[in-house]
Amino acid sequence: MTRFLLPALLLTSVALAPAAPAAPASSPDASAGIALQGADSYHLRIGDIEVIALSDGSVPQDLHVLLRDTTAAHTDALLDRGFLKNPVEASINAFLFRTGNRVVLVDTGAGDFFGPGFGGKLLDSLSREGVSPDQITDVLLTHAHDDHMGGLVHNGKLNFPNATVHLGKPDLDFFLDRTNAARTHYAMSYFDQAATALQPEVDAGKIRPFSATTEVVPGVVATLHPGHTPGSAFYTLTSRGQSLTFVGDIIHVAAVQAPDTGVTIAYDVDTAKAAAVRREAFARFAAERTLIAIPHLSFPGIGHMQQVGSGFAWVPIPYTNRAPASDAAFADPHKNGDQP
Ligand SMILES: [Zn+2]
Repeated sequence: MTRFLLPALLLTSVALAPAAPAAPASSPDASAGIALQGADSYHLRIGDIEVIALSDGSVPQDLHVLLRDTTAAHTDALLDRGFLKNPVEASINAFLFRTGNRVVLVDTGAGDFFGPGFGGKLLDSLSREGVSPDQITDVLLTHAHDDHMGGLVHNGKLNFPNATVHLGKPDLDFFLDRTNAARTHYAMSYFDQAATALQPEVDAGKIRPFSATTEVVPGVVATLHPGHTPGSAFYTLTSRGQSLTFVGDIIHVAAVQAPDTGVTIAYDVDTAKAAAVRREAFARFAAERTLIAIPHLSFPGIGHMQQVGSGFAWVPIPYTNRAPASDAAFADPHKNGDQP
């Protein structure tokens, strides 16, 4: 995503929300339900590898402005089924894992691009996990949009100075060429942002673009799925027969684009291709029961797509918060007889 596209008034009320008193549930106040979170990471195991979802924050999205190939009434009907109302909050999720001697970050959040209070929390989330930015050896960018590459730089300096940045070559070529603004509906700001976030990595010789299916890190395979952007990529991490696929922005709003995969968004460079990628990928993920990680679905954004009729439904992973070693001992919480 690139812009909020929200009326300034709404943006202001959301920005002030943490200091405002809690509104009753029936209030039409747009700040109802908005809160600042303290816990910004979620851990899970994929085979031998611990994957950590890291929150970069969240941003409100005016879907009446942003969505394409729908009507406001259709969007609202699907949101209503999901107990939501426009505008809808989008998470910005990044993911961290270690494999061998590599410390890998999938996407980097919005960095400074969205301004104070909106995104840019990734480095704090990383720090709470005891990981310093110079420990990151590889950044896997799902695509070259501001909310995924923004965290690469701060004031022109690399946030992850020791990291190789992997990116689909079509995105590098497209976004670093401003003449593409005249050939697409994309505003020049997209290309300015790429110059800000990617050019310092290019100048430092840190970018390693790929043009076809590539094992970018041992056990992690990149595949290209052009549509949302020309070089949009999935990264599939596999360990001991388990896998997790980081899919980037093939969906922004689960309540709308899972049941109706034909609904697209202003951020798609090619809306028809983006919808086709979404439909094909969801069908495959549902059939193969693939665990996927999604940047903009509610944190941690990890779960499955379930086929429902001719559409799909998002099924988040179950929450766990205990040590795996306790599996056997506490399989039956009532076996001692006296627990409530
Ligand atoms: Zn995005």
